[in-house]
Amino acid sequence: MPVSQNGWPVDPPRSSRLVPGTNVRVTVANGPAGDVLLHVLSQFDRRVEDLDLASTRGELDDWGYASRPIRGGTATSNHSSATAVDANATRHPLGVRGTFNAAQVAEIHRILNEVEHVVRWGGDYVGRPDEMHFEINASYEHVARVAARLAGGSSPSPSPAPNGRPTLRRGSNGADVALVQRYLGVRPADGIFGPATEAAVRTYQARQLLSVDGVVGPSTWARIQSGLGSAVPAGGGTPAPAPPRPSRPTIRRGSTGEDVETLQRWLGLPTDGAFGPATEAKVRRYQAMKGLSADGVVGPKTWAAMGL
Ligand SMILES: [Zn+2]
Repeated sequence: MPVSQNGWPVDPPRSSRLVPGTNVRVTVANGPAGDVLLHVLSQFDRRVEDLDLASTRGELDDWGYASRPIRGGTATSNHSSATAVDANATRHPLGVRGTFNAAQVAEIHRILNEVEHVVRWGGDYVGRPDEMHFEINASYEHVARVAARLAGGSSPSPSPAPNGRPTLRRGSNGADVALVQRYLGVRPADGIFGPATEAAVRTYQARQLLSVDGVVGPSTWARIQSGLGSAVPAGGGTPAPAPPRPSRPTIRRGSTGEDVETLQRWLGLPTDGAFGPATEAKVRRYQAMKGLSADGVVGPKTWAAMGL
């Protein structure tokens, strides 16, 4: 049986599957390889970069199965065995190094560590980098073991202690800071805990009825992590339910204030707190991508889709 570079059979039974938490579908091999790849993509979307981002031309750019040789090579690409996926391909072109910041790279490595490195990242290639690319790089048995653990089967590896993350405050930096920034919608998620991050932490703490000190200590971490779902959920693949959030007001063209600022920050717009045409246009595009009614009004469904 012909195999691709990683030893997996080409043209296997495969399906187009929805990446959990996104509107993105990729075609991956049926069985454990596809399960693990979908898990990695879903974590990528949550923790590294929004997978729903369309390319500059407006199409989604996340790919799975493709029958083809390795570009510029002779071996058969792992896309041919439906055991490779590309994430946000137009943002992370083949051959270009440094398309993710250091905090994102650290988070990618953390995700791969959680799946026992049965998935390899193209950004780790010693030769030509391929930062959009993730592929299965292990035996069927090993991949099946990891997939079973993710699905809540036996032999769980220890899940991270709920408060096993460092306390973060003004002046902290690194991957944990970037994770908090992404979760709170602070842009850019540069891994540097400055005034904007502190303000976002305070706002979050106030909304969550935590003590408002601007420091991400054990109780704030616990709340954030339950919102994220633990990376390797204890006892299975079902993330902990997010805590109920105090509801946000419906905002639209003409609205002003802190919720508009939060929205703008999340959308990567300048945060002037005034909901104008640019904000509305971006909201409509986001709603269309998410399959929501693209009315430009940010109500409960849109807030929920944004995780805010
Ligand atoms: Zn690829």
